[in-house]
Amino acid sequence: MAQRDYYEILGVSKNASQDEIKKAYRKMALKYHPDRNPDDKDAEAKFKEAAEAYEVLSNQEKRQKYDRFGHEGMKSGFGGGGFGGGMSMDDIFEHFGDIFGGGFGSAFGGGFGGGQSRRRRRVNRGSDLRIKVKLTLEEIAKGVEKRIKVNKYVSCKTCSGTGAKDGSSFSTCHTCNGSGQVTRVSNTFLGQMQTTSTCPTCGGEGQTIHNKCNVCHGNGIVKDNEVISIDIPAGVAQGMQLSVSGKGNAAARGGVPGDLIVLIEEESHPQLQRDGNNLLYDLYISIPEAALGTKADIPTIESTARIKIDPGTQGGKVLRLKGKGLPEVNGYARGDLMVNVNIWTPKTLSDEEKKMLEKLAESDNFKPNPTSRDKSFFNRMKEYFRN
Ligand SMILES: [Zn+2]
Ligand SMILES: [Zn+2]
Repeated sequence: MAQRDYYEILGVSKNASQDEIKKAYRKMALKYHPDRNPDDKDAEAKFKEAAEAYEVLSNQEKRQKYDRFGHEGMKSGFGGGGFGGGMSMDDIFEHFGDIFGGGFGSAFGGGFGGGQSRRRRRVNRGSDLRIKVKLTLEEIAKGVEKRIKVNKYVSCKTCSGTGAKDGSSFSTCHTCNGSGQVTRVSNTFLGQMQTTSTCPTCGGEGQTIHNKCNVCHGNGIVKDNEVISIDIPAGVAQGMQLSVSGKGNAAARGGVPGDLIVLIEEESHPQLQRDGNNLLYDLYISIPEAALGTKADIPTIESTARIKIDPGTQGGKVLRLKGKGLPEVNGYARGDLMVNVNIWTPKTLSDEEKKMLEKLAESDNFKPNPTSRDKSFFNRMKEYFRN
């Protein structure tokens, strides 16, 4: 199924500000809101589509990833944090409060009906955990499974994450009667309106604890070390972030754990330089080798590649070893290994060498006489700008 461009869905430009995105989404959400379009499947689909676009574009991190990798980057495992399945109506209404403000969200709830019943008790979510992972080019070329020990909040074993000293010491919150929310009626220009907010007594959980667990002091979580294995796909680069869904900090009292955000760091290779998916290598050959031709061993990620240097090779010639670069993330293409041929000029000469070179210098053959093919700097630059 081809997915529509998120910017197109919201009808904004690629460099739209957060404010413009918010306004555009608000307009869409009002237009296609299910309460205004009962039993209209098309409107519901548009409503969901707009919410998904907003979910991504309103988040700095997700938006950058989307700009870089498109819908591909939003898939679970890599980047999207498990967005793949789309949003449920509950998720969408959950976000309404942030976008429309308390007043507007409940205008739907009170005014159009139905919305209120969709609201649910707040579920605690654990915070995201950020770690850095250093990778060698070899690991990046193949992809790697890293096992990393992280210190994070885990569910308290003593109380099974409930926060209560014994299983029966919960009671329904008196402030909100267990709904997790308190409702206030106020007069506005739209008429009388209900404003709903999170219950201050129970923090939205709907219940309170009598006897708190001694170990976690009622939080249901404690700090501990955990070894997490992370599957890193081939082709990642310095500065990329992977998110591992549900591997972040555990949530207080049995909520949903946060995500583990893995920041990629790249170790420099002793011989190869990375340029996107291509690798660069500086080869040095002697003057006789350049004139007579030779064979040279080029280090690659896997091993070495033996290449032939033709007689009469000029310095600055670039040889391309196709497919010896790095793979694309989530793709099939592979970069190349570019070999820059340098000719080594001796920095000191013996008297004998000096005499031999002076003799060679007399030969017309040794006087520079470049044809356009030899002007490899221009060719290289042309190539560079074409890519
Ligand atoms: Zn506990
Ligand atoms: Zn309460």
